[in-house]
Amino acid sequence: MSQQYDLIVVGGGIAGYHTALSARETNPDLRVLILSADRETTCSAPCLPDYIAGHIPRKNVFVAREETFREKGIHLSLGERVVSADPEKHTVTTDRERTLRYGALVLATGSEPIRLRRMEGTALPGNHVLKRVTDADALAKAPARRAVVVGTGAIGLEGASSLKERGVEEVTLVEALEWINPKCFDRAASDYMKKAFADIGVHVLTGEAITAVEGVDRVTGVRTEKRSIPCDLVLWGIGMRPVTDLAASMGVCLSKSGGIEVDAFMRTNLPDVYAVGDCTEPYDEFYQRPMANMLWRTATEQGTFVGTYLAGGDVPEEGYEGGKLLFLTYVGDAPACSYGYTEGALKGKRYTVLEDRQEDSYRKVLLQNHKIVGFQMVNTLEGANELYAQIRKGATVDLKGTDREEFIRFPEKYFAMSAYLRQMKM
Ligand SMILES: Cc1cc2nc3c(=O)[nH]c(=O)nc-3n(C[C@H](O)[C@H](O)[C@H](O)COP(=O)(O)OP(=O)(O)OC[C@H]3O[C@@H](n4cnc5c(N)ncnc54)[C@H](O)[C@@H]3O)c2cc1C
Repeated sequence: MSQQYDLIVVGGGIAGYHTALSARETNPDLRVLILSADRETTCSAPCLPDYIAGHIPRKNVFVAREETFREKGIHLSLGERVVSADPEKHTVTTDRERTLRYGALVLATGSEPIRLRRMEGTALPGNHVLKRVTDADALAKAPARRAVVVGTGAIGLEGASSLKERGVEEVTLVEALEWINPKCFDRAASDYMKKAFADIGVHVLTGEAITAVEGVDRVTGVRTEKRSIPCDLVLWGIGMRPVTDLAASMGVCLSKSGGIEVDAFMRTNLPDVYAVGDCTEPYDEFYQRPMANMLWRTATEQGTFVGTYLAGGDVPEEGYEGGKLLFLTYVGDAPACSYGYTEGALKGKRYTVLEDRQEDSYRKVLLQNHKIVGFQMVNTLEGANELYAQIRKGATVDLKGTDREEFIRFPEKYFAMSAYLRQMKM
Protein backbone atom coordinates (compact mmCIF):
# COMPACT_ATOMS: atom_id res chain seq x y z
CA MET A 1 0.00 0.00 0.00
CA SER A 2 1.58 3.29 -1.07
CA GLN A 3 1.49 6.28 1.25
CA GLN A 4 -1.05 8.97 0.36
CA TYR A 5 -0.56 12.75 0.56
CA ASP A 6 -3.00 15.52 -0.34
CA LEU A 7 -0.14 17.44 -1.90
CA ILE A 8 3.28 16.29 -3.05
CA VAL A 9 5.79 18.97 -4.01
CA VAL A 10 8.79 17.89 -6.08
CA GLY A 11 11.66 20.25 -5.25
CA GLY A 12 12.72 21.96 -2.05
CA GLY A 13 13.78 25.33 -3.49
CA ILE A 14 12.00 28.56 -2.64
CA ALA A 15 9.06 27.84 -4.97
CA GLY A 16 8.47 24.40 -3.40
CA TYR A 17 8.91 25.77 0.11
CA HIS A 18 6.30 28.52 -0.38
CA THR A 19 3.90 26.07 -2.03
CA ALA A 20 4.01 23.74 0.97
CA LEU A 21 4.02 26.54 3.53
CA SER A 22 1.02 28.40 2.13
CA ALA A 23 -0.95 25.16 1.64
CA ARG A 24 -0.43 24.20 5.29
CA GLU A 25 -1.08 27.73 6.53
CA THR A 26 -4.34 27.83 4.55
CA ASN A 27 -5.47 24.35 5.59
CA PRO A 28 -3.58 22.75 8.52
CA ASP A 29 -5.36 19.43 7.91
CA LEU A 30 -3.60 18.84 4.58
CA ARG A 31 -0.93 16.13 4.39
CA VAL A 32 1.88 17.84 2.52
CA LEU A 33 5.19 16.28 1.49
CA ILE A 34 8.24 17.90 -0.14
CA LEU A 35 10.63 15.55 -1.94
CA SER A 36 13.94 17.25 -2.61
CA ALA A 37 16.93 15.83 -4.45
CA ASP A 38 19.12 18.29 -2.50
CA ARG A 39 20.57 17.19 0.83
CA GLU A 40 20.31 20.69 2.26
CA THR A 41 17.12 22.58 3.14
CA THR A 42 15.86 25.58 1.15
CA CYS A 43 18.56 28.18 0.69
CA SER A 44 18.49 31.77 -0.48
CA ALA A 45 20.49 31.72 -3.72
CA PRO A 46 20.57 35.54 -3.85
CA CYS A 47 22.56 35.42 -0.57
CA LEU A 48 25.24 33.04 -1.93
CA PRO A 49 27.46 35.84 -3.34
CA ASP A 50 27.39 37.51 0.10
CA TYR A 51 28.47 34.23 1.69
CA ILE A 52 31.31 33.82 -0.85
CA ALA A 53 32.41 37.40 -0.21
CA GLY A 54 32.55 36.61 3.51
CA HIS A 55 29.84 39.14 4.40
CA ILE A 56 27.51 36.56 6.00
CA PRO A 57 28.13 33.18 7.66
CA ARG A 58 27.09 29.96 5.91
CA LYS A 59 24.17 29.31 8.27
CA ASN A 60 22.52 32.58 7.19
CA VAL A 61 21.96 31.41 3.62
CA PHE A 62 19.27 28.94 4.68
CA VAL A 63 15.67 30.12 4.53
CA ALA A 64 14.42 27.44 6.91
CA ARG A 65 15.92 24.67 9.05
CA GLU A 66 14.49 21.13 9.16
CA GLU A 67 12.77 21.98 12.49
CA THR A 68 10.87 24.78 10.76
CA PHE A 69 9.34 22.28 8.33
CA ARG A 70 8.39 20.02 11.25
CA GLU A 71 6.88 22.94 13.18
CA LYS A 72 4.80 23.87 10.14
CA GLY A 73 3.60 20.27 9.79
CA ILE A 74 5.31 19.81 6.41
CA HIS A 75 6.80 16.37 5.73
CA LEU A 76 10.23 16.86 4.18
CA SER A 77 12.45 14.23 2.60
CA LEU A 78 15.90 15.52 1.64
CA GLY A 79 18.20 13.70 -0.77
CA GLU A 80 15.27 11.84 -2.34
CA ARG A 81 14.81 12.32 -6.09
CA VAL A 82 11.56 11.63 -7.91
CA VAL A 83 12.51 9.45 -10.86
CA SER A 84 9.10 8.90 -12.44
CA ALA A 85 5.44 9.76 -12.08
CA ASP A 86 2.22 8.19 -13.27
CA PRO A 87 -0.38 10.92 -13.77
CA GLU A 88 -3.18 8.40 -14.28
CA LYS A 89 -2.54 6.53 -11.05
CA HIS A 90 -1.59 9.81 -9.30
CA THR A 91 1.71 8.38 -8.08
CA VAL A 92 5.38 9.32 -7.97
CA THR A 93 8.30 6.93 -7.56
CA THR A 94 11.59 7.96 -6.00
CA ASP A 95 15.19 6.77 -6.14
CA ARG A 96 14.59 5.10 -2.75
CA GLU A 97 12.09 2.88 -4.57
CA ARG A 98 9.16 4.44 -2.73
CA THR A 99 5.90 4.92 -4.59
CA LEU A 100 3.66 7.61 -3.11
CA ARG A 101 0.15 8.72 -4.03
CA TYR A 102 -0.83 12.36 -4.43
CA GLY A 103 -4.08 14.32 -4.58
CA ALA A 104 -2.26 17.17 -6.30
CA LEU A 105 1.31 17.23 -7.56
CA VAL A 106 3.36 20.44 -7.80
CA LEU A 107 6.54 20.34 -9.88
CA ALA A 108 9.03 22.85 -8.44
CA THR A 109 12.13 21.31 -9.99
CA GLY A 110 13.92 24.62 -10.60
CA SER A 111 16.87 25.22 -12.89
CA GLU A 112 20.45 24.10 -13.49
CA PRO A 113 23.47 26.10 -14.70
CA ILE A 114 24.25 25.75 -18.40
CA ARG A 115 27.62 24.03 -18.91
CA LEU A 116 29.70 24.03 -22.08
CA ARG A 117 30.73 20.39 -21.75
CA ARG A 118 32.08 20.16 -25.27
CA MET A 119 34.51 23.06 -24.92
CA GLU A 120 38.11 22.02 -24.32
CA GLY A 121 39.16 22.13 -20.67
CA THR A 122 35.74 22.57 -19.06
CA ALA A 123 36.01 19.27 -17.17
CA LEU A 124 39.27 20.28 -15.44
CA PRO A 125 39.28 21.01 -11.71
CA GLY A 126 39.03 24.76 -11.25
CA ASN A 127 35.84 25.11 -13.34
CA HIS A 128 32.92 26.25 -11.18
CA VAL A 129 29.23 27.08 -11.40
CA LEU A 130 27.10 28.82 -8.78
CA LYS A 131 23.69 27.42 -7.93
CA ARG A 132 23.75 25.52 -4.66
CA VAL A 133 25.29 26.08 -1.24
CA THR A 134 27.87 23.41 -2.08
CA ASP A 135 28.94 25.41 -5.17
CA ALA A 136 29.34 28.47 -2.96
CA ASP A 137 31.33 26.38 -0.43
CA ALA A 138 33.71 25.36 -3.20
CA LEU A 139 34.13 28.96 -4.42
CA ALA A 140 34.58 30.31 -0.91
CA LYS A 141 37.32 27.75 -0.21
CA ALA A 142 39.09 27.76 -3.60
CA PRO A 143 42.68 28.90 -3.10
CA ALA A 144 42.55 31.09 -6.22
CA ARG A 145 44.75 34.09 -6.94
CA ARG A 146 43.35 34.81 -10.40
CA ALA A 147 39.76 34.21 -11.51
CA VAL A 148 37.88 34.55 -14.78
CA VAL A 149 34.12 34.95 -14.55
CA VAL A 150 32.18 34.24 -17.73
CA GLY A 151 28.85 35.95 -18.47
CA THR A 152 27.17 39.11 -17.21
CA GLY A 153 23.80 37.93 -15.91
CA ALA A 154 23.18 38.26 -12.15
CA ILE A 155 25.45 35.32 -11.34
CA GLY A 156 28.41 36.60 -13.37
CA LEU A 157 28.07 40.15 -12.08
CA GLU A 158 27.65 39.21 -8.43
CA GLY A 159 30.08 36.31 -8.69
CA ALA A 160 32.84 38.62 -9.96
CA SER A 161 32.19 41.16 -7.16
CA SER A 162 32.09 38.47 -4.49
CA LEU A 163 35.32 36.77 -5.58
CA LYS A 164 37.10 40.13 -5.55
CA GLU A 165 35.70 40.92 -2.11
CA ARG A 166 36.75 37.46 -0.95
CA GLY A 167 40.35 38.45 -1.74
CA VAL A 168 41.04 36.97 -5.17
CA GLU A 169 43.78 39.27 -6.48
CA GLU A 170 42.87 39.43 -10.16
CA VAL A 171 39.29 39.04 -11.35
CA THR A 172 38.39 39.37 -15.04
CA LEU A 173 34.78 39.37 -16.16
CA VAL A 174 34.34 38.25 -19.77
CA GLU A 175 31.21 38.81 -21.87
CA ALA A 176 30.85 37.56 -25.44
CA LEU A 177 28.23 40.16 -26.33
CA GLU A 178 29.05 43.79 -27.03
CA TRP A 179 28.30 45.11 -23.56
CA ILE A 180 27.23 44.01 -20.09
CA ASN A 181 23.90 42.16 -20.01
CA PRO A 182 22.26 43.61 -23.16
CA LYS A 183 18.99 41.90 -22.25
CA CYS A 184 18.57 44.36 -19.37
CA PHE A 185 20.91 47.30 -20.13
CA ASP A 186 21.91 49.52 -23.03
CA ARG A 187 25.53 50.44 -23.72
CA ALA A 188 25.62 53.63 -21.62
CA ALA A 189 24.45 51.78 -18.47
CA SER A 190 27.02 49.10 -19.22
CA ASP A 191 29.77 51.76 -19.35
CA TYR A 192 28.78 52.99 -15.89
CA MET A 193 28.82 49.39 -14.63
CA LYS A 194 32.29 48.91 -16.13
CA LYS A 195 33.41 51.97 -14.20
CA ALA A 196 31.88 50.57 -10.99
CA PHE A 197 33.79 47.31 -11.63
CA ALA A 198 37.02 49.23 -12.25
CA ASP A 199 36.50 50.98 -8.89
CA ILE A 200 36.54 47.61 -7.10
CA GLY A 201 39.46 46.30 -9.18
CA VAL A 202 37.56 43.94 -11.54
CA HIS A 203 38.63 44.05 -15.18
CA VAL A 204 35.77 43.73 -17.71
CA LEU A 205 36.18 42.48 -21.29
CA THR A 206 33.15 42.70 -23.56
CA GLY A 207 32.68 41.46 -27.11
CA GLU A 208 35.08 38.62 -26.41
CA ALA A 209 34.06 34.97 -26.27
CA ILE A 210 35.92 32.22 -24.38
CA THR A 211 37.09 29.55 -26.84
CA ALA A 212 38.84 27.10 -24.48
CA VAL A 213 39.94 26.51 -20.92
CA GLU A 214 43.67 25.87 -20.64
CA GLY A 215 45.44 23.48 -18.30
CA VAL A 216 46.71 19.90 -17.96
CA ASP A 217 45.70 18.68 -14.48
CA ARG A 218 43.73 21.75 -13.55
CA VAL A 219 42.77 25.17 -14.88
CA THR A 220 45.70 27.46 -15.65
CA GLY A 221 43.95 29.94 -17.94
CA VAL A 222 41.29 30.63 -20.53
CA ARG A 223 41.63 31.42 -24.19
CA THR A 224 39.42 34.01 -25.86
CA GLU A 225 39.24 34.96 -29.53
CA LYS A 226 41.83 37.65 -28.79
CA ARG A 227 44.13 36.49 -25.97
CA SER A 228 45.04 34.03 -23.23
CA ILE A 229 44.16 35.04 -19.67
CA PRO A 230 46.04 33.15 -16.93
CA CYS A 231 43.80 32.07 -14.04
CA ASP A 232 43.32 29.24 -11.57
CA LEU A 233 39.52 29.48 -11.32
CA VAL A 234 36.76 29.89 -13.91
CA LEU A 235 33.23 30.69 -12.79
CA TRP A 236 30.67 29.99 -15.51
CA GLY A 237 27.64 32.30 -15.31
CA ILE A 238 26.27 31.79 -18.79
CA GLY A 239 22.67 31.11 -17.89
CA MET A 240 20.30 28.56 -16.40
CA ARG A 241 18.10 25.98 -18.05
CA PRO A 242 14.80 24.79 -16.57
CA VAL A 243 14.86 21.27 -15.08
CA THR A 244 12.03 19.51 -16.86
CA ASP A 245 13.11 15.89 -17.41
CA LEU A 246 10.53 14.53 -14.96
CA ALA A 247 7.80 16.78 -16.39
CA ALA A 248 8.61 15.73 -19.95
CA SER A 249 8.68 12.03 -19.03
CA MET A 250 5.15 12.21 -17.64
CA GLY A 251 3.72 14.07 -20.65
CA VAL A 252 3.65 17.65 -19.34
CA CYS A 253 3.75 20.24 -22.18
CA LEU A 254 6.90 22.32 -22.47
CA SER A 255 7.24 25.66 -24.24
CA LYS A 256 9.54 26.17 -27.24
CA SER A 257 12.21 27.59 -24.95
CA GLY A 258 11.97 24.55 -22.68
CA GLY A 259 10.04 25.74 -19.59
CA ILE A 260 6.87 24.05 -18.32
CA GLU A 261 3.73 25.66 -19.77
CA VAL A 262 1.37 26.83 -17.03
CA ASP A 263 -1.82 28.87 -16.99
CA ALA A 264 -2.64 31.65 -14.52
CA PHE A 265 -3.45 29.00 -11.87
CA MET A 266 -0.12 27.19 -12.40
CA ARG A 267 -1.98 24.28 -13.99
CA THR A 268 -0.13 22.17 -16.52
CA ASN A 269 -1.90 20.25 -19.28
CA LEU A 270 -2.31 17.22 -16.95
CA PRO A 271 -5.11 17.01 -14.36
CA ASP A 272 -3.94 17.73 -10.78
CA VAL A 273 -0.39 18.48 -11.94
CA TYR A 274 0.87 22.02 -11.33
CA ALA A 275 4.25 23.71 -11.72
CA VAL A 276 5.95 26.72 -10.13
CA GLY A 277 9.30 28.52 -10.08
CA ASP A 278 12.30 28.40 -12.41
CA CYS A 279 11.11 25.25 -14.21
CA THR A 280 8.08 27.13 -15.60
CA GLU A 281 7.51 29.76 -18.21
CA PRO A 282 4.95 32.01 -16.53
CA TYR A 283 2.87 34.73 -18.11
CA ASP A 284 4.80 38.00 -17.76
CA GLU A 285 2.80 41.00 -16.63
CA PHE A 286 4.90 43.54 -18.60
CA TYR A 287 5.44 41.65 -21.85
CA GLN A 288 1.94 40.11 -21.61
CA ARG A 289 3.01 36.70 -22.79
CA PRO A 290 4.68 33.64 -21.27
CA MET A 291 8.39 34.24 -20.68
CA ALA A 292 11.23 32.52 -18.88
CA ASN A 293 11.63 34.42 -15.63
CA MET A 294 13.91 32.57 -13.17
CA LEU A 295 13.68 35.18 -10.44
CA TRP A 296 13.24 34.76 -6.71
CA ARG A 297 10.17 36.92 -6.36
CA THR A 298 8.26 35.17 -9.12
CA ALA A 299 9.11 31.72 -7.69
CA THR A 300 7.92 32.86 -4.25
CA GLU A 301 4.72 34.41 -5.59
CA GLN A 302 3.86 31.42 -7.77
CA GLY A 303 4.45 29.02 -4.85
CA THR A 304 2.35 31.10 -2.47
CA PHE A 305 -0.39 31.37 -5.07
CA VAL A 306 -0.65 27.68 -5.88
CA GLY A 307 -0.31 26.51 -2.26
CA THR A 308 -3.16 28.81 -1.21
CA TYR A 309 -5.26 27.85 -4.23
CA LEU A 310 -4.85 24.11 -3.74
CA ALA A 311 -5.69 24.40 -0.05
CA GLY A 312 -8.95 26.19 -0.88
CA GLY A 313 -7.81 29.68 0.17
CA ASP A 314 -8.65 33.00 -1.44
CA VAL A 315 -6.79 33.83 -4.63
CA PRO A 316 -7.65 36.44 -7.28
CA GLU A 317 -10.39 35.20 -9.60
CA GLU A 318 -8.29 35.87 -12.69
CA GLY A 319 -5.34 33.93 -11.28
CA TYR A 320 -1.73 34.98 -10.73
CA GLU A 321 -0.97 38.48 -12.02
CA GLY A 322 2.23 37.33 -13.71
CA GLY A 323 6.00 37.24 -13.48
CA LYS A 324 8.01 40.43 -13.00
CA LEU A 325 11.33 40.71 -14.77
CA LEU A 326 12.75 43.37 -12.47
CA PHE A 327 16.53 43.01 -12.59
CA LEU A 328 18.48 44.23 -9.58
CA THR A 329 22.10 43.41 -8.90
CA TYR A 330 25.11 44.91 -7.18
CA VAL A 331 28.61 45.71 -8.45
CA GLY A 332 30.38 45.94 -5.12
CA ASP A 333 28.09 48.39 -3.32
CA ALA A 334 26.75 49.96 -6.52
CA PRO A 335 23.22 48.85 -7.46
CA ALA A 336 22.29 48.27 -11.10
CA CYS A 337 18.61 47.94 -11.87
CA SER A 338 16.41 47.66 -14.95
CA TYR A 339 12.79 46.98 -15.83
CA GLY A 340 10.83 46.95 -19.07
CA TYR A 341 12.19 47.62 -22.54
CA THR A 342 15.76 48.56 -23.40
CA GLU A 343 16.57 50.64 -26.49
CA GLY A 344 17.76 47.40 -28.07
CA ALA A 345 14.29 45.90 -27.62
CA LEU A 346 12.67 49.02 -29.13
CA LYS A 347 14.90 49.07 -32.21
CA GLY A 348 12.97 50.20 -35.30
CA LYS A 349 10.18 51.75 -33.17
CA ARG A 350 9.59 55.36 -32.13
CA TYR A 351 10.48 56.14 -28.54
CA THR A 352 11.82 58.93 -26.33
CA VAL A 353 14.93 58.63 -24.16
CA LEU A 354 15.43 60.64 -20.98
CA GLU A 355 18.90 60.34 -19.49
CA ASP A 356 20.63 61.68 -16.44
CA ARG A 357 24.40 61.12 -16.66
CA GLN A 358 26.20 62.08 -13.46
CA GLU A 359 29.86 61.37 -12.84
CA ASP A 360 29.19 58.18 -10.85
CA SER A 361 25.56 57.39 -11.47
CA TYR A 362 23.26 56.91 -14.41
CA ARG A 363 19.52 56.99 -14.95
CA LYS A 364 17.53 56.39 -18.08
CA VAL A 365 13.79 56.34 -18.72
CA LEU A 366 12.21 55.20 -22.00
CA LEU A 367 8.83 56.41 -23.18
CA GLN A 368 6.72 55.19 -26.05
CA ASN A 369 3.52 57.02 -27.02
CA HIS A 370 3.74 58.95 -23.71
CA LYS A 371 3.86 55.67 -21.81
CA ILE A 372 6.80 54.89 -19.50
CA VAL A 373 8.04 51.57 -20.89
CA GLY A 374 11.41 51.04 -19.25
CA PHE A 375 14.15 52.34 -17.01
CA GLN A 376 17.78 51.56 -16.18
CA MET A 377 19.82 52.83 -13.24
CA VAL A 378 23.42 52.36 -12.15
CA ASN A 379 24.82 53.36 -8.76
CA THR A 380 21.52 54.87 -7.69
CA LEU A 381 18.03 53.55 -7.03
CA GLU A 382 16.43 56.96 -6.49
CA GLY A 383 12.99 56.84 -8.00
CA ALA A 384 13.25 53.19 -9.07
CA ASN A 385 10.30 52.03 -6.94
CA GLU A 386 8.11 54.82 -8.21
CA LEU A 387 9.00 54.20 -11.85
CA TYR A 388 8.44 50.47 -11.42
CA ALA A 389 5.01 51.12 -9.90
CA GLN A 390 4.10 53.58 -12.66
CA ILE A 391 5.16 51.18 -15.42
CA ARG A 392 3.09 48.40 -13.83
CA LYS A 393 0.10 50.75 -13.81
CA GLY A 394 0.66 51.59 -17.48
CA ALA A 395 1.24 55.26 -16.57
CA THR A 396 1.51 57.86 -19.33
CA VAL A 397 3.07 61.28 -19.21
CA ASP A 398 2.98 64.27 -21.58
CA LEU A 399 6.43 65.79 -21.74
CA LYS A 400 5.26 68.97 -23.48
CA GLY A 401 6.14 71.93 -21.28
CA THR A 402 7.96 69.68 -18.84
CA ASP A 403 11.58 70.29 -17.98
CA ARG A 404 12.99 66.93 -19.08
CA GLU A 405 16.01 67.26 -16.87
CA GLU A 406 13.78 67.90 -13.89
CA PHE A 407 11.75 64.87 -14.83
CA ILE A 408 14.67 62.49 -15.00
CA ARG A 409 16.68 63.85 -12.07
CA PHE A 410 14.21 62.80 -9.47
CA PRO A 411 16.27 62.50 -6.27
CA GLU A 412 14.21 64.93 -4.25
CA LYS A 413 11.84 65.68 -7.14
CA TYR A 414 10.87 62.04 -7.16
CA PHE A 415 7.77 62.70 -5.11
CA ALA A 416 7.05 65.72 -7.26
CA MET A 417 7.12 63.39 -10.24
CA SER A 418 4.69 60.97 -8.70
CA ALA A 419 2.40 63.89 -7.83
CA TYR A 420 2.85 65.07 -11.40
CA LEU A 421 1.95 61.65 -12.74
CA ARG A 422 -1.07 61.49 -10.48
CA GLN A 423 -2.15 64.92 -11.76
CA MET A 424 -1.99 63.57 -15.27
CA LYS A 425 -4.64 61.00 -14.27
CA MET A 426 -3.14 57.95 -15.81
C1 LIG B 1 23.77 32.64 -7.22
C2 LIG B 1 22.36 33.05 -7.52
C3 LIG B 1 21.96 34.36 -7.26
C4 LIG B 1 20.67 34.76 -7.56
N1 LIG B 1 20.31 36.04 -7.29
C5 LIG B 1 19.06 36.44 -7.54
C6 LIG B 1 18.64 37.77 -7.23
O1 LIG B 1 19.41 38.58 -6.77
N2 LIG B 1 17.34 38.11 -7.47
C7 LIG B 1 16.44 37.22 -7.99
O2 LIG B 1 15.29 37.56 -8.18
N3 LIG B 1 16.80 35.95 -8.29
C8 LIG B 1 18.07 35.55 -8.07
N4 LIG B 1 18.45 34.26 -8.36
C9 LIG B 1 17.42 33.33 -8.92
C10 LIG B 1 16.55 32.73 -7.82
O3 LIG B 1 17.36 32.31 -6.77
C11 LIG B 1 15.75 31.57 -8.40
O4 LIG B 1 14.83 32.12 -9.33
C12 LIG B 1 14.98 30.76 -7.37
O5 LIG B 1 15.81 30.35 -6.33
C13 LIG B 1 14.32 29.56 -8.04
O6 LIG B 1 13.73 28.74 -7.08
P1 LIG B 1 13.04 27.36 -7.48
O7 LIG B 1 12.47 26.82 -6.22
O8 LIG B 1 12.13 27.55 -8.63
O9 LIG B 1 14.21 26.43 -8.05
P2 LIG B 1 15.53 25.80 -7.43
O10 LIG B 1 16.11 26.69 -6.41
O11 LIG B 1 16.36 25.43 -8.61
O12 LIG B 1 15.05 24.50 -6.67
C14 LIG B 1 14.66 23.33 -7.34
C15 LIG B 1 14.71 22.17 -6.41
O13 LIG B 1 14.17 21.03 -7.07
C16 LIG B 1 14.96 19.89 -6.76
N5 LIG B 1 14.69 18.86 -7.78
C17 LIG B 1 14.86 18.95 -9.13
N6 LIG B 1 14.46 17.81 -9.72
C18 LIG B 1 14.02 16.99 -8.74
C19 LIG B 1 13.48 15.67 -8.72
N7 LIG B 1 13.29 14.96 -9.83
N8 LIG B 1 13.15 15.14 -7.52
C20 LIG B 1 13.32 15.84 -6.37
N9 LIG B 1 13.81 17.08 -6.33
C21 LIG B 1 14.16 17.66 -7.50
C22 LIG B 1 16.35 20.45 -6.72
O14 LIG B 1 17.22 19.57 -6.07
C23 LIG B 1 16.10 21.75 -5.95
O15 LIG B 1 16.03 21.52 -4.57
C24 LIG B 1 19.74 33.84 -8.10
C25 LIG B 1 20.15 32.52 -8.36
C26 LIG B 1 21.44 32.13 -8.08
C27 LIG B 1 21.84 30.72 -8.37
